[in-house]
Order: sequence, then C-alpha cells, then structure tokens
Amino acid sequence: MIQQYPTALTIAGSDSGGGAGLQADLKTMQACQTFSTNVIVGITAQNTLGVQGQYPLPKQVVTRQFASILADFHIQAVKTGALFDAEHVQMVADELQWSRLPNLTVDPVMIAKGGAHLLTPAGIRKIKSQLLPQATIVTPNLPEAELLAEQQIISEADRLSAAKKIQQLGAKNVIIKGGHGSGPLVKDYVRLANGDDFWLTAPRVKTKRTHGTGDTLSASITAFLAQGLGISTAIQRAHAYLEMIIEKPLVLGHGHGPLN
Ligand code: PLP
Repeated sequence: MIQQYPTALTIAGSDSGGGAGLQADLKTMQACQTFSTNVIVGITAQNTLGVQGQYPLPKQVVTRQFASILADFHIQAVKTGALFDAEHVQMVADELQWSRLPNLTVDPVMIAKGGAHLLTPAGIRKIKSQLLPQATIVTPNLPEAELLAEQQIISEADRLSAAKKIQQLGAKNVIIKGGHGSGPLVKDYVRLANGDDFWLTAPRVKTKRTHGTGDTLSASITAFLAQGLGISTAIQRAHAYLEMIIEKPLVLGHGHGPLN
C-alpha cells in the first residue's frame, strides 16, 4: 500500500529575499519531511535589509487558492504567517472555519526584524477574535505576546500570566518565544492546553543572521503535527531543529541574513 506523505498547508506572505514567510515555510517543511501546499495571501518586496513593499492579494485570488488545494489534498496541519490586515485575517479565518482543517498553528507575525509592520492594529484585533479561537497553538515572540495579552512582559511570571491570557482568547497551546529577551540563554515558555507548562532553553547565538527564525519554528511545529506527533513532542522537535540550523546560517546579503 502506498502511504500518504504528511501534507500541510501554509497560508503566508511571500518574501522575495527568500529568508522568511512562504519560502522559509516550504524549505523548513521539506527539511522536516512534510510536503506543504500554500495559499499566498500577499507578496512582499524584501531582502536582508528590510521590506521595501507589501502587496496583499485580492480576495478572489486568496479564496481560489484555498478551493484548489481543498479539492485535491488531504491536509493534516495548517499554519498562518503574515496576513497584512483585518480583511485578510477575516478571509483566512472564514476559510479555516468552514473547511475545518486540523492542527492549526497561528504565527501572529506583526513586525519583521528590520522593523517593518506586517499587520495593521485592526489585523491584530481580528487575529485575537477570529483566529486564536481556532488555533491548536499560537507562537508569539515577546512583543507579539504583549500585544495579544495586553500586558507588559518583563519577568518570567509575566510570561506565565500572558500565556494564560492568550489561552483565554481561545488558543489551546501557547509558546512565547524568548528571542527578543536578553541574557545568555533564550528561554521559550510553553503552556499546554491541559495547564502543563515547561521552558525550552537554548544558548543565545550571537548573530544577526536570524531572518525567518519565527517562521522556521512555526513551520517545523506544523510539519511535525502533520506527521501525527503530539503537540508537546512537535514543539520540542521544532525547538531542537531551530537550535541546530541557527548555528550554521548562510552568509548572504548585507543585513539580517537567512537561515540555512
Ligand atoms: N516577511 C514575511 C512575509 C514574513 O512572513 C515574516 C515572518 O513571518 C517576515 C518577513 C519577518 O521575518 P523576520 O522577523 O524573521 O525578519
């Protein structure tokens, strides 16, 4: 019997520089042995120095891609990335609602490393009201977690309370990534649906070649969920994968270079 190859869907923005967004998702999923289909929500003109242009796609273009994928593939896990504005968040939330695809990872992409805003304030509110209630896991970094939980995060106790608040918005599992913190260790805080929690730590790698790290983590979680792994194992395997590849970035471009 031919076995079904694990298949995912990424709903993302394209990064012309190849380091983040859709391109990071596809290469990460491939490296983690999952095939990924993709709905492109918008296109960015971007390189390692920053984002020079953003072009969200018309509704018809987005919904047509969903229809083509859903008519043909058996999708075992989904992730969302840059969604640009409230209108596009709503489009995606509606498609996910009626299609009932399993294992949704929401990467609430808001601001790129170079400082470009990839989501409007109204888009953030829509993610909270429309996407988090559908999320198996949400993967904010510290500034994103502050905006979702509407609180400052300074201490470790703040991370615990922010994660709880984010769960109250409907996300089942939460990982608050510590990359934007300081200190020799990057500490990610994980809070699971059943209330169990744990920290994942890794040495802080001194590099500015971190473009696409968030996408890589969320895409690898999605890849492992598509393979049927439990949420806790998927998170730990994804963390280990990122820790491995952040050590050996490609030397490309003049700014925040891409991962390998
Ligand atoms: N561009 C796109 C299209 C993205 O989806 C993302 C992150 O998800 C970024 C840029 C930002 O990547 P980074 O913050 O790692 O530079």
